[in-house]
Amino acid sequence: MARRKLKVLLVANRGEIALRIIRTARAMGLRTVAVFSEADAHSAHVAAADDARLIGGAPAAESYLNIDSIIAAARETGADAIHPGYGFLSERPEFARAVEQAGLIFVGPRADVMAQLGDKISARKLAIAAGVPVVPGLEAAAPDAACEFAAREGFPILVKAAAGGGGRGMRVVESAEVCVAALEAASREALSAFGDGRVFIEKYLARPRHIEVQFLGDEKGNIVTMGERDCSIQRRHQKIVEESPAPHLSNTARDAMLAAATRLARAAGYTNAGTAEFLVDGDRFYFLEVNARLQVEHPITEIRFGCDLVEEQLKIACGEEIAPPSAPRGCAIECRINAEDASAGFRPAIGIVLDLRVPAGPGVRFDTHLARGSEVTPFYDGLLGKLITYGSDRKQARARMVAALDELAILGVTNTAAFLRDVIASEAFGAADLSTRFIEEQFSHWPSEDQALTEAALIAASLTASGALGIRPTEAAAQLTAADGADRSPWKALGGFELWKRQ
Ligand code: ADP
Repeated sequence: MARRKLKVLLVANRGEIALRIIRTARAMGLRTVAVFSEADAHSAHVAAADDARLIGGAPAAESYLNIDSIIAAARETGADAIHPGYGFLSERPEFARAVEQAGLIFVGPRADVMAQLGDKISARKLAIAAGVPVVPGLEAAAPDAACEFAAREGFPILVKAAAGGGGRGMRVVESAEVCVAALEAASREALSAFGDGRVFIEKYLARPRHIEVQFLGDEKGNIVTMGERDCSIQRRHQKIVEESPAPHLSNTARDAMLAAATRLARAAGYTNAGTAEFLVDGDRFYFLEVNARLQVEHPITEIRFGCDLVEEQLKIACGEEIAPPSAPRGCAIECRINAEDASAGFRPAIGIVLDLRVPAGPGVRFDTHLARGSEVTPFYDGLLGKLITYGSDRKQARARMVAALDELAILGVTNTAAFLRDVIASEAFGAADLSTRFIEEQFSHWPSEDQALTEAALIAASLTASGALGIRPTEAAAQLTAADGADRSPWKALGGFELWKRQ
């Protein structure tokens, strides 16, 4: 039974995740409140909510990171709970605390739990105390001890910021000569980026896989796990493709990881949804960190377990006990479609969506906030959407993903759809030969020269775009060419449009 009644939910986020949370809240009969910056007045999440409040200027520091402004919006709109989504304030203990102090429900773990897990050093200590294996390393990286450790374990080692996140605050150290200088530089960088200069070191695993466990905890102290996700396909230590279950993972290793995640969550006194991340090397696994929030890649778990994780989060926040999850089925894959140029080091892109073709069909889900005319600005993370496919097995989920990526077209904003299509269709992905180095090993020279756009393909794309936009083909060609401000080559301006592949 719920101990607290929730009627109005404020979503302290933007983009696809705000929309996704609003949808669930509405289905549960809640009133929803969106918050938005000056750059997002016309965004889908604002239109979707029952009420909305402007919380500040376009830079995130003025709006989506502005705690006072968000709490004021919650007060004004009569909200009784705040869901932080992911990113922005979702893992800031001071935000969770401010929400609690305002007498509102924070949809996530308690502030003190978040503080302990958000600090990578204290999370590592907690894991050790809970009997969970950690990557060989040292919690305190005094230069002498660090160099001694590296000499014993072998280079390279990885220097990490205690307060790091999102792939930032990490530095690989290759040799003894640069060890001390690297530690000092890493600490300086951490201080300026996160306001906290503490660093620690880990052995840098050469070719690990990244596998994580989804768990839920309630106020009664129940912890349940909901399988694992393999997130090894990354660029710049950030995930771009995730799948569940993790291929080639033995049942013994899976069970051991689920048990380790449970021990850790219990030791932390965790409530709500969280994820324990591990690096896996052969049959051995090592704790990396806990993400004390909903993950971007949560839909692949939802699809396999037939549940809605946001609904679970809201129920837990109201004091309900978690029901044991149903047995997982099949396989699910997610591709993150980012506004980036995969042929130029994943350089961020911006632009206006000239046309949008959304894939559909059995086992296909596309979570996006975009519509024709949406503007992708430089202010926020460039996630345009998440394409998720389900299959009764990996082969079917993969085939559906290739077909869905072919169908997806986000015209006018350079994006990663074409790149991901080649990744998913590749033999290496088919064989599930996964590691965090997959992209640099297999796709560092993409696209190959024979994939370059021909003039014929540009003409074909222009004709299609002109039909979609109701303008002359010459104008469409000009718009396509000009759509990408950074690089005016027509091929890049096509964004995810795949006509060039089908000539
Ligand atoms: P963040 O919080 O910044 O995301 P994580 O500690 O979760 O940092 O690590 C992100 C990614 O960095 C991992 O998925 C992996 O690719 C890489 N990584 C982290 N630690 C190690 C390590 N010790 N050895 C090899 N790769 C690592």
